[in-house]
Amino acid sequence: MDATTGIPPGVTEETEPFWAAAKEGRLVVERCSSCGAESFPPRGMCRCCRARAMVPVEITSRGHVYSLTVNYQRWLPDLEVPYAIVLVEFPDHPGVRVAGRLRGCPPEEAAIGMAVEIGFEPGPGGFAIPSFVAAVPARGDAAPPGDTPDPHDPKPPRPGGPA
Ligand SMILES: [Zn+2]
Repeated sequence: MDATTGIPPGVTEETEPFWAAAKEGRLVVERCSSCGAESFPPRGMCRCCRARAMVPVEITSRGHVYSLTVNYQRWLPDLEVPYAIVLVEFPDHPGVRVAGRLRGCPPEEAAIGMAVEIGFEPGPGGFAIPSFVAAVPARGDAAPPGDTPDPHDPKPPRPGGPA
């Protein structure tokens, strides 16, 4: 699947560090030098205390799906559908949620709470855009409640599946 179809992002003074880091495969959010709150998307001002001294902080941990949607609408002629968009939160970065396309599993297997790795893919206009890759459940990750087989349970992501 390809994510280059679409409209390139409008880069501002506040979002330029994000796109520069994305090009290097790094996901950065803003952290307030005054109160420590983290914000995304970057806006050059703290969402909690309105201070303007924001520093970039890199997120390196895997995240969990907070919410999701599956798009079946072919908004553009070249757009491949369906695909899942997930909103991801990170245990070590409270208050920050990042949206992106889910890769590594079929869209219908996207589920709230599933673990995802941070990934980037080529986007429109030569930008690297954040996306997420279904993670193989690691030891210590919360197992879904009830271990009995259920046809409605999300199947585990298939390692080495289509990206
Ligand atoms: Zn602050």
